[in-house]
Amino acid sequence: MNLHTHTNYCDGLCDPVEYFEKAIELNWKFIGFSAHAPIPFQCEWCINESDITNYIQEIQSLGKHYQKAINTFIGWEIDYLHGKDFPSLNDIQIQNADFHICSIHYLPILKSDNHVIEYIEIDGNFSDFSRIVNYYNDNLEEVLNLYLNNFKTMLSLPFPAVKIIGHIDKICINAEQYPIFKKYADNFYKHLYEILRDQPKNSIILEINTRSIYKKNRSNPYPNYQFLNTISNLNIPTILSSDAHHACELKQGFSALNEQLDKRKISINWFNIEDYFSSK
Ligand SMILES: [Zn+2]
Ligand SMILES: [Zn+2]
Repeated sequence: MNLHTHTNYCDGLCDPVEYFEKAIELNWKFIGFSAHAPIPFQCEWCINESDITNYIQEIQSLGKHYQKAINTFIGWEIDYLHGKDFPSLNDIQIQNADFHICSIHYLPILKSDNHVIEYIEIDGNFSDFSRIVNYYNDNLEEVLNLYLNNFKTMLSLPFPAVKIIGHIDKICINAEQYPIFKKYADNFYKHLYEILRDQPKNSIILEINTRSIYKKNRSNPYPNYQFLNTISNLNIPTILSSDAHHACELKQGFSALNEQLDKRKISINWFNIEDYFSSK
């Protein structure tokens, strides 16, 4: 199964029905949908606010249609924004979802009084990312620390539904373009580890996201294997997702990932989402 999927309601390429049919073909018992929830400024990959009700209704009615074959969960990928928490949770329909994938796609450009001038994407174009680094006096370490602070605050926020933490080190796809990243990487991952270690037990679910393997042609998922090995002693409940933007991507990267986890003897505390939802 996979909960992290984007249809053409946001930046995915397929209709919801294509995901249902693909998931049923794969003999999955569960499928989740996680459209990018709106944010309070223009965002080309988010759902339009006016489509929220249609998105929910279409998936609900398809879920009914296919209910003998598969169970459906309607969720959202919601953005944490510095100073604004999860703005999309102000919408009651988004708040009432089956689950949320909490992600950081933006970091703020801050004035000295902490006022936000602008939010800039960290995992999109390198040119956007480099604009952030430029703003902070070309100090990549400061940007990484800003990310870690945002990450820590995000995890501390109270939460209505299942709280899945999305692609926790995706910032590295751009940060590692800077040769000096090598100098900061150990420290970055050490802090990431400490933040996860200090979470109350079972308060979060971590995702291993394979999109970087099949789409970005990287050898590592988010988070990377070395980090997955480091955090294995924390026993954080974990789910596997592909962040599919096309029905044919529903399980892409899964077998390559499992092979690597076996080969590297990395043990994962897989979260049994089926048990979780069936006990509700
Ligand atoms: Zn994302
Ligand atoms: Zn996503």
